[in-house]
Amino acid sequence: MRDYYIAGNWKMHKTRAEAAELARSLAGQLKDGKHRYLVAPSFTLIETVAAVVKGTNIRLGAQNAASEEQGAHTGEVSVLQLKDLGVETVILGHSERRHTYKEDDALINRKVRLALRHGFEVILCVGELLEEREAGRAEAVCEAQTVKGLEGVAAADLGRVVIAYEPVWAIGTGKTATPEDADAIHAYIRGVIGKLYGPDAAGRIIIQYGGSVKPENAAQLMAKENIDGALVGGAALKTETFVPIAKFS
Ligand code: PEP
Repeated sequence: MRDYYIAGNWKMHKTRAEAAELARSLAGQLKDGKHRYLVAPSFTLIETVAAVVKGTNIRLGAQNAASEEQGAHTGEVSVLQLKDLGVETVILGHSERRHTYKEDDALINRKVRLALRHGFEVILCVGELLEEREAGRAEAVCEAQTVKGLEGVAAADLGRVVIAYEPVWAIGTGKTATPEDADAIHAYIRGVIGKLYGPDAAGRIIIQYGGSVKPENAAQLMAKENIDGALVGGAALKTETFVPIAKFS
């Protein structure tokens, strides 16, 4: 059985005081939660949030990491620096990194391999644009991003990889994929993992759905066979919206 895994991507929101308050409130309200939880604050908030979630059932994540360990990379943050702060998970290949900041599959793959080499869990985001969906290419796009993102990743490391299927047209737009459409793509991605790593690995890998997940739609999405959790953006910024998602029933 796969555990449900609910992750909050706080994007570029909150001051240290606001982040500490949200983390404290989540830690209190999720302490009896039955699923796996993660919050991914901005780099500048990580130390503050780390102090709050330490020893709780909430993992600490980062929203990105550099593709190199260290050196002359102005503005980048390395996995070594993240590890030093207690970060356990990095989100890589988020659609905002792919499309706004033009990160390509080769760069994302370098980041994935580096993060895994340093012992991190990786949430690899994949997902199609609206025009790609309309052209019937959603599966092909997700397959290519999954295959290229995982190139060179050993089967032994796959247990520390989570895939987040996030249709780009559903992120921050209020539009959600129907549970049936999302499940179909999740099943397809699971099949891609099966081709790469075999049926056992395909059965074990956690595939989160992301794209306007809200308290009102979380349970229907999670009820689908291939949907193992959620990567939540907007609704992760408030306890009132994240907790009902995290405690869906
Ligand atoms: C995200 O940023 O990963 C995301 C899914 O955002 P939202 O929930 O706001 O659509």
